[in-house]
Amino acid sequence: MSTNIKKIGVLTSGGDAPGMNAAIRAVARTCAYHQIECVGIYRGYQGLIEGDFEDLSARSVRNIINRGGTFLKSARSQEFKTKEGRAKAHEQLIKNQIDALVLIGGDGTFTGGMLFNEEYNFPIIGIPGTIDNDIDGTMYTLGYDTALNTVVDAIDRIRDTASSHDRLFFIEVMGRDCGHIALNAGLGAGAEEILIPEANRGLEQLLESLERSRNTGKSSSIVVVAEGDKTGKSVFQLAEYVEENLPNYDIRVSVLGHMQRGGAPTCFDRVLASRMGVKAVESLMEGKSNYMVGMIKDEIVITPIVDAIKGKSSVDSDLMRVCEIMST
Ligand code: ATP
Repeated sequence: MSTNIKKIGVLTSGGDAPGMNAAIRAVARTCAYHQIECVGIYRGYQGLIEGDFEDLSARSVRNIINRGGTFLKSARSQEFKTKEGRAKAHEQLIKNQIDALVLIGGDGTFTGGMLFNEEYNFPIIGIPGTIDNDIDGTMYTLGYDTALNTVVDAIDRIRDTASSHDRLFFIEVMGRDCGHIALNAGLGAGAEEILIPEANRGLEQLLESLERSRNTGKSSSIVVVAEGDKTGKSVFQLAEYVEENLPNYDIRVSVLGHMQRGGAPTCFDRVLASRMGVKAVESLMEGKSNYMVGMIKDEIVITPIVDAIKGKSSVDSDLMRVCEIMST
């Protein structure tokens, strides 16, 4: 494959996600395979502005495929949001003779990358790394599958206590704007109710449904609540409201929090990261820029970044129906 690209920089930005290390490894090894130099940029856009770089060889990324987080570290850079900050970032790239960038992150990272591309016509390509799965142009973002498995495992453990003590547990999971984690992990863990921002069921319907469950002989229940769900003001207020209205229930709340973001990536995320890393580098080599790599129907494809961040991924109505039937 002939190309004008001689040196590629790779960074991770925004919230960390399992599989980011595997993606960095894939980028570095694909570069080595095609005899392109690879540079790791520490702390996302902030490290880019400050020139915090390290050459990456095929060997320098060994023993990381199985590690959660990102060894390049991630950061949120206010400075990159300014014209001056982006000018400094561009100077660093020129000084270090870097020809193109692979950006691993979420929609904020891609928005910044797109702006940078517009201003400097600098080649960029994105790899979606976020546990929320809230990006269009891919059926799966890196880290999402791992997070689902972590959440299912946590709910299984909580269910042991719920059934031993005949309790109703409200479990809050991540998902500020979207309910993918809540819906899929809730279904996988057999939750009785799943509350997501995309479908506000209302408090009355929740009470009715919980009462019905009790009357059909359920003594314990799990309600999975996405962080951004609007049924209650918070998961604690939601629990209080139900407690006041259904005094027969013994209620507890569990907020899973950051444990959902950590841990070793699943095999699925490692394979996805490897495939996306190869596609990202080879797309840059072909002269493509301003795209995001994604997986659609088991194929690795590229989508213009602008479409990936513009269209919000939506939840599957079929899946919601399955959840409803399963909670009978
Ligand atoms: P996550 O989905 O995990 O939050 P993200 O990539 O969306 O990941 P953000 O904090 O929104 O995370 O964005 C990461 C970085 O991208 C920001 O710290 C900032 O440096 C850059 N960025 C975000 N939005 C813009 C923007 N409008 N202009 C320039 N840079 C931006």
